[in-house]
Amino acid sequence: MDLSFLPEHADFRAEVRTWIEANFPQAIRDKQATGENLNKQEILSWHKVLYKKGWLTPSWPVEYGGTGWDAVRRYIWSEELARANTCQPSFGLGMIGPVLYTFGTSEQKAKFLTPTVAGDIWWCQGYSEPGAGSDLAGLSTRAERFTGEDGRDYYRVTGQKTWTTQGQYADWGFFLVRTDPTARKQEGITFLLIDMTSPGVSVRPIITIDGGHEVNDTFLDNVIVPVENRIGEENKGWTVAKFLLGHERTGIAGVARSKRGIERLREIAARVPADDGAPLIRDPDFRRKVVELELDLAALEYTELRTLAGESSGRGPGPEASLLKVKGTEVGQRLTELTLEAAGVQGQPYFRGFPAQGGNADPIVPDFAFKAAPVYFNMRKTSIFGGSNEIQRNIMAKAVLGL
Ligand SMILES: Cc1cc2nc3c(=O)[nH]c(=O)nc-3n(C[C@H](O)[C@H](O)[C@H](O)COP(=O)(O)OP(=O)(O)OC[C@H]3O[C@@H](n4cnc5c(N)ncnc54)[C@H](O)[C@@H]3O)c2cc1C
Repeated sequence: MDLSFLPEHADFRAEVRTWIEANFPQAIRDKQATGENLNKQEILSWHKVLYKKGWLTPSWPVEYGGTGWDAVRRYIWSEELARANTCQPSFGLGMIGPVLYTFGTSEQKAKFLTPTVAGDIWWCQGYSEPGAGSDLAGLSTRAERFTGEDGRDYYRVTGQKTWTTQGQYADWGFFLVRTDPTARKQEGITFLLIDMTSPGVSVRPIITIDGGHEVNDTFLDNVIVPVENRIGEENKGWTVAKFLLGHERTGIAGVARSKRGIERLREIAARVPADDGAPLIRDPDFRRKVVELELDLAALEYTELRTLAGESSGRGPGPEASLLKVKGTEVGQRLTELTLEAAGVQGQPYFRGFPAQGGNADPIVPDFAFKAAPVYFNMRKTSIFGGSNEIQRNIMAKAVLGL
């Protein structure tokens, strides 16, 4: 594994930094700076800029939109995106994309992959149910196969999914459904793509502790789905589901974003006074917490680089994805805790709509403190979604330690 930075990598870093600086829209940049939620159009506008440049999905095979960059270039790219505090592209791209090019038929690739990358299909993930989260294989949404009057085969799907991220924006969803209730639970599951405009699909908002509308309940009431929307074989959806989760977890580590967050934390702590009036960053106790965080992040960074190098030599993300997820989310959460600590009383929770214009509209709230509390609350989710951190520890105990 060679992860050293060559002169050509420095040139590459300069090239992408200049390009992002020139192309990341200012309106989104301003909202990102204060942690405000972006709407679908804003997210898609950045998605499409990346797509046009051909830099949206660097890790994919070149024939499906990858750039052919080595692991170091891909790493530099993600670092520069985080450094500029850019937003993620449309939800689900990094999850359903690899599923489509790995398991999809040529018809499915033609129908879904190109428009997904182009930003014309927005996806949501229909895995979790009120009674099936950690124990995902216990899901009970039923799909019964039948032949329609037109002679074609369909599934009739009924059940409830929950925590559907950005389901309110979604054109299509990838769903896990039970097709054989008599089989062992992992063996009776099928992976289906469902058009969210189909009759019988409804989406109800869940407002989270930070006041945001990010997640939803999704109800499926006798939804008719053509059999050709199935990925892989009937009752073999668990294999596809696990493959997708591996890709979801690697992305959650967020190393580059945490690096930027620590830089920002240091800037804030240099401006905010501690009890003795000196900058908070000179306070030994606070500084120790920041340095401990930096050390943990450095260790995580090397683990992520090893995973990237493995992927570039043809190995998909294995159980180390679980390790990245656990450590990455812990670091991210500690970062928001320290940012809130630095913001002090100015970072206290605020009512929705206050200050009215967002950003610095209220002079009492300095820019670093605005949204510090909602962002802190919002980040609690990261140790739950993508499979909770307790479950990731179970996976590592089995797969890595052999327990
Ligand atoms: C903000 C957010 C967005 C999400 N987005 C989506 C989405 O788009 N699509 C989707 O399908 N799902 C989504 N999820 C759901 C997420 O994947 C589940 O919340 C997660 O898998 C945990 O399931 P649960 O909430 O049912 O908790 P439970 O499974 O009920 O777990 C409750 C607690 O018990 C612990 N626990 C459970 N089993 C074990 C065990 N065997 N060993 C040790 N501890 C255990 C868990 O770690 C957790 O702390 C999202 C969740 C959140 C919070």
